[in-house]
Amino acid sequence: MTSSLPGTLSPARRSRALADLAGTSVDVVVVGGGVTGAGVALDAASRGLDVVLLERTDLAAGTSRWSSKLVHGGLRYLAHGEVGLARESARERAVLMGTTAPHLVRQLPFLVPDVAGRDVTVLAEAGGRAADLIRRSVPGGRGSLPSTRRASADEVARLVPGVRPGGGGVLFWDGQLVDDVRLVVALARTAAAYGATVLTGAAVTAVDGNDVHVAVGDAGFTLRAGVVVNAAGVWAQRLAPGIRLVPSRGSHLVVPGSVLGSPSAALTVPLPGSRSRYVFALPQPDGLVYLGLTDEPVEGPVPDDDPVPSDAEVAQLLETVNQVLSVPLTRDDVVGSYSGLRPLVLPASAGTGPGDATADLSRKHLLQWDGPVLSVVGGKLTTYRAMAEETVDAVVARLGRGAAHSPTARLPLVGAAPRPALERVNASSRLVARYGTEAPVVEALGSGAVVAGRLETVGELRFAVRHEGARSVADLLDRRTRIGLVPADRERAVPVALEVLREELASEPA
Ligand SMILES: Cc1cc2nc3c(=O)[nH]c(=O)nc-3n(C[C@H](O)[C@H](O)[C@H](O)COP(=O)(O)OP(=O)(O)OC[C@H]3O[C@@H](n4cnc5c(N)ncnc54)[C@H](O)[C@@H]3O)c2cc1C
Repeated sequence: MTSSLPGTLSPARRSRALADLAGTSVDVVVVGGGVTGAGVALDAASRGLDVVLLERTDLAAGTSRWSSKLVHGGLRYLAHGEVGLARESARERAVLMGTTAPHLVRQLPFLVPDVAGRDVTVLAEAGGRAADLIRRSVPGGRGSLPSTRRASADEVARLVPGVRPGGGGVLFWDGQLVDDVRLVVALARTAAAYGATVLTGAAVTAVDGNDVHVAVGDAGFTLRAGVVVNAAGVWAQRLAPGIRLVPSRGSHLVVPGSVLGSPSAALTVPLPGSRSRYVFALPQPDGLVYLGLTDEPVEGPVPDDDPVPSDAEVAQLLETVNQVLSVPLTRDDVVGSYSGLRPLVLPASAGTGPGDATADLSRKHLLQWDGPVLSVVGGKLTTYRAMAEETVDAVVARLGRGAAHSPTARLPLVGAAPRPALERVNASSRLVARYGTEAPVVEALGSGAVVAGRLETVGELRFAVRHEGARSVADLLDRRTRIGLVPADRERAVPVALEVLREELASEPA
């Protein structure tokens, strides 16, 4: 029954892809299975192009899983007077919340407390109201979120009990992803449902004219592509040395929600000395809170290993949020942490690389041709669809094939449905928020907890292997679920993940 799910990334499908791909010719090879590459693969496949997506590790193995998980309306762009970019973000947020992935994005209130300083809340209120005006001006934006308003002292105490009592505050609303990896997996599966071949564990080692050389473990193959889209994030330079990136590390700490009184709003505190940079304490659906984020330049070659926060970043995050708390957080409260590298494009790269370059430096997204390779680097998770559309417009123009207009703003991702329909799905609300209309299938695969005290189910692990291309313990615990964000929980979950892999892969038809 479950094998009929759209775009299933089953082990059998992977074996078929491995057997079939060598020596074939396709319209587009996309390198990189982050939000950008998965978005491009979906856009291209939905326009009728023959697409192969190659990811060296796993879906969302790179920066895309280390985000703050916000679908921003562009408040930060407004702070810099960039109204066009704020409008684009607001438009894309409305597309995600209204059509493409309503199940994955929820409304999140952001609280700026008066105890952070009245000048801070006055500025936040003005910014929030300007963002509301922009939201109302984009299709689907009106009514998608509540409007910015003052909050009473009682409300502040209720929303974030850990805040020092006595003051009111300002509330504005934005979108929050249930999990950034869920968006990437949904994109990749939807691309597969439109005919794209999605292959993980497949690293592109070189592009030689139209030949794309691929390594899969110790083996390898070559295929031919009309166009290669390089969506390799901070590693894009390896395939397109003309691009110049200056990665910057952004870090988050993970704390139990209880240390802030189990907040239901995102606490928002300005970095000392800054009027546009904030530290957020972001409540997650599983009861944890992510505290972020930092911005640290990274020198030297981009490492393959996951980055980690420095001691100074940990101190900065704790000190900033502690300014407004009754009981300061300490390092003992921290149960996990994560860092990601922002693929920032060096301004001087505009026009200096080979081929024709169009860089929108303010949003740090670059689209650049180098022979048959089109690199697309930078941008935001929120605006992946607009970036993918622009990329595939260029691909279609180069190939002379494929639909001229992208349909993706109207294409629900797998699991998506209008909100009233989601409310009728017969499964736990937690699973509906992660899997949408497919939640009953996940629930039927087992509702026992992976580890005591956490909400993830064994059914989620089984579903990940059967339909979402998970092939390893890390795929299951660090990406399809985020148990790995708390190392102590991860350790307990490893035997369960191993057992699920053993059982599921043994029962897979050869
Ligand atoms: C700390 C932090 C917080 C952020 N928060 C937000 C947020 O809240 N909201 C928002 O909208 N944006 C946010 N962003 C921005 C957003 O996360 C990134 O812009 C986005 O995830 C980049 O995605 P990508 O697909 O381009 O890169 P990646 O996700 O890094 O994907 C690149 C992929 O390419 C693969 N790859 C590399 N080389 C090869 C090869 N040779 N062959 C095959 N595969 C290869 C990698 O394994 C990787 O999976 C944040 C960024 C950071 C760093």
